[in-house]
Amino acid sequence: MTPNQFQQAVLTWFDHHGRKDLPWQQDITPYRVWVSEIMLQQTQVSAVIPYFQRFMASFPILADLAAAPLDQVLAHWSGLGYYARARNLHKCAQVVMEEHDGQLPRDTDALAELPGIGRSTAGAIASISMGLRAPILDGNVKRVLARLHAVDGWPGQSTAANRLWQLAERYTPQERCNHYTQAMMDLGATLCTRSKPRCGDCPLASACTASAQGNPQDYPGKKPRAEKPVRESTMLLIEHGEQIYLEQRPPSGIWGGLWCPPQAEKPGQWLAERGWRAAETQTLPPLRHTFTHFHLDITPVWVRLEKMPAQVAEAGGGWYKLRQLNRPRAAQQLGLPAPIVKLAKQLLALQAPLLANSPAPSL
Ligand code: SF4
Repeated sequence: MTPNQFQQAVLTWFDHHGRKDLPWQQDITPYRVWVSEIMLQQTQVSAVIPYFQRFMASFPILADLAAAPLDQVLAHWSGLGYYARARNLHKCAQVVMEEHDGQLPRDTDALAELPGIGRSTAGAIASISMGLRAPILDGNVKRVLARLHAVDGWPGQSTAANRLWQLAERYTPQERCNHYTQAMMDLGATLCTRSKPRCGDCPLASACTASAQGNPQDYPGKKPRAEKPVRESTMLLIEHGEQIYLEQRPPSGIWGGLWCPPQAEKPGQWLAERGWRAAETQTLPPLRHTFTHFHLDITPVWVRLEKMPAQVAEAGGGWYKLRQLNRPRAAQQLGLPAPIVKLAKQLLALQAPLLANSPAPSL
C-alpha cells in the first residue's frame, strides 16, 4: 500500500466511522487538545470525559490553569492517577505564560520541549489543533503500525521505536492531518484493539501483515516482564471527634502534593514525638495499591486519640471531617489519592455505629 492509498483508506474510514463528538473535539483550541491528550495518556476515553469537563469548567483557558494553585489542579485530577501529569500540566502552563506569551508554540520541536509533552503529544496538538503536518505515535498508533508491518520487538526498545516512527512519518499526510491523526487513534482504539482486533472491518486489512499471518495479538512485542517490587507502608489513621489527621505530601514523588495519613514505621514513637496519646489503636485489614513500577502494601493503623492536640494543625498537616471524605467527589475537592478514600471508607465503616446518631458536618 502506498502512503497515498494508506491515507485515503484511513480518511475514508474516518469520515464514516471516526469519533467526532468527544468534548475536546468541540471548540478545538491548542489548550483543550493539549489537556485532553495529557488526560488520555494511559486512561480510557470514558474515564477522561467527566474529568475533562470539570477541568474546563474550572480552568477554561491556559491562563486560568497557570494562575491556579497546584492544590486546586491536583484536586481536579484526584482519581485519574499518574499525578505527575497534573503537576507537569500546571508547570507547563506557567512556562507557556512566561516564555511563549500564553500561547502554545506552533512548532512540534518547541512543543516537545515543554514539561510533560513528548514527541507524540506534540504531534497530536500540532496536527489536531493547529493543522500542521506532524506524525504521532501513541499506544494506539504503535499497535496499528506494528501489526501492519509485523514490526518485531517491544516499542520501548530503540530499534522498534525508530522503525515505528519511520512508518508514522511515512504515512502522515500533508492535507487533513488533523483528521488523519484522530482517525489513527480511533482505528487503534475501536478496531485494532489489543486483544480482539476486528480485521474484517478494517480498511487496512488487505495490506496488513499480522492479519495475513493470523497473529495480530503478537504485535507490538511485549516488554520483558520483570516482577514488580513490593514496598510496605504503615499509615496512621489518626482520629478524634469524627475528624482524621492528614498531611500534605511533598510536591514530588508518589502522590506529590496530595493529602494522606502520616506514614510511620513505629506508630507509638510517631505519636510520642508529638505528645499525642492514643486512647485506642487497631490494625485494619491491609490494602495493596499497584503503581507502574511497584506494589505498595499499606497496613492501616487506626488510632483514636485521647484528646484533640492543643496544636490543632502542624505545618503541612490538618484535620478533616471523616464523613466529608466519604462524599461523592470528595477526592476531587480535597486532593486525595484513590486508596486513601478507600481507607477513609474502611474507617467510616468501623465508626458507623458511633456516627449514626450525630448530625452531618458541613463541608
Ligand atoms: S487488519 Fe487487523 S491487525 Fe491489521 S491493522 Fe487492521 S485491525 Fe489491526
